[in-house]
Amino acid sequence: MRNIKFFDTTLRDGEQSAGVNLNLQEKLEIARQLERLRVDIIEAGFPASSKGDFEAVKQIAETVRTCSVTGLSRSVRSDIDAAWEALKGGAEPRLHLFIATSPIHMVHKLRMTPEQVIEAAVEAVKYAKRFFPIVQWSAEDACRSELPFLAKIVAEVIKAGASVINIPDTVGYITPKEYGEIFLYLQNNVPNIENVSLSAHCHDDLGMAVVNSLSAIEHGATQVECTINGIGERAGNAALEEIAVALHIRKDYYQVETRLNLQEIKRTSNLVSKLTGVVVPPNKAVVGKNAFAHESGIHQDGVLKEKTTYEIISPELVGVPSNSMVLGKHSGRHALRNRVEELGYTLSDEEINQLFVRFKELADKKKDITDDDLIALIFEEKFDHFKDFYQLSSIQVQYGTNQIPTAVVVLKDGKGNEIQEAATGAGSVEALYNTLERCFQTEVTLLDYRIESVGGGRDALAQVFVKVRVHDIETSGRGTAQDVLEASAKAYINAMNRVFMIEAMRAENEKVATS
Ligand SMILES: [Zn+2]
Repeated sequence: MRNIKFFDTTLRDGEQSAGVNLNLQEKLEIARQLERLRVDIIEAGFPASSKGDFEAVKQIAETVRTCSVTGLSRSVRSDIDAAWEALKGGAEPRLHLFIATSPIHMVHKLRMTPEQVIEAAVEAVKYAKRFFPIVQWSAEDACRSELPFLAKIVAEVIKAGASVINIPDTVGYITPKEYGEIFLYLQNNVPNIENVSLSAHCHDDLGMAVVNSLSAIEHGATQVECTINGIGERAGNAALEEIAVALHIRKDYYQVETRLNLQEIKRTSNLVSKLTGVVVPPNKAVVGKNAFAHESGIHQDGVLKEKTTYEIISPELVGVPSNSMVLGKHSGRHALRNRVEELGYTLSDEEINQLFVRFKELADKKKDITDDDLIALIFEEKFDHFKDFYQLSSIQVQYGTNQIPTAVVVLKDGKGNEIQEAATGAGSVEALYNTLERCFQTEVTLLDYRIESVGGGRDALAQVFVKVRVHDIETSGRGTAQDVLEASAKAYINAMNRVFMIEAMRAENEKVATS
């Protein structure tokens, strides 16, 4: 059986989703989880694009030991140099070079002739091979390129040393049959094609990303590029979990193998959804909340008598937990640590100690601490903490049906200075957010506000997600607390801290660019 490699680009293409801005801790946690899922390659970012991206790629390359870590690079020496600096500490450094090959991109974007594009591609691959053992080359907008030209440039970059050729459907335009035919065409028209592996990279603009990727596999591709939950630019990328489970359940048809640990799928999906703030629709294949819920009476009856009557995928296959452990007031530090590890999180001793304090506080107010509660606490402790930026000290909100809602907020900045403001609004959340806007002294547009309970019960924790825009920066934030107003305040501050993080990174980039 052929082996199919999974190239995960959640941290590069996925992070390009509108409103997704992950910090270093969050990227590292996702990379560690992708390693547990046993993907073959992790695309950790685009090192030359910003100092923050560079640092994240470097740390991920140095942390991950059992997957190859790669970074994206334009076909210019400065990009390749930055990528090598970021990736050289990796277990198997690999470069992902790209250049556009469609007439529309060559004329309007690159302003280069096809001959110049071939020359630039060959020169970049040769230069990259001085450093990198593995160079993957991508023809951006391959699906709208002229096939004879595509075959010609692919032959040249293989001669120059590329060992993986990626054929991306950058704009999500191709159909499954046409996509398969491109792979066949290259295999029939590029003389040295057997020296390389072929890779698919699909976008979901027409809802065909997964089926196009599967078609590529049927027509000779041995690598697929995809993201967890299908997040990514515009309508997103091909969803890793859907391709993986399709190949597994229909092995009889596809006749291929992968090295993935499918039981980590659900956990990876949850982690990415929580950290990015991108919600998984309940009806989403494989990882949606309802993916295994049988509603019709006839179906329920069938499943009770014999599962396989209506169930082609068992929830256990993708690691949907059948029962969740409950901790309580009397659980000790040891039990907490064990549970955190079982849930797949890596915490330092210091973080465990902090978490234990928060856990005890919560256990005083709430009888059963479920896995979801624990994960919410871990998130607060590990990812939502921007210690160099703003923190909530206290809030006070007055609300009554016959009075104007008023809020008072006290914040602490990274240097420990206190900021206090008060404002009113039409409702309590608005009063709170008007007050916070005053604290930050900048115009903030609230694009989205969502509130959820963590698990069930009257004493459940409240989790708030917001999306904000400040100038040209769009980002999301989240906050958890027992009270909905406190959770709302925390989510807003979390989003604003991300805005300041991005602004600080931009200022740093300008400094680098001008020095
Ligand atoms: Zn893409």
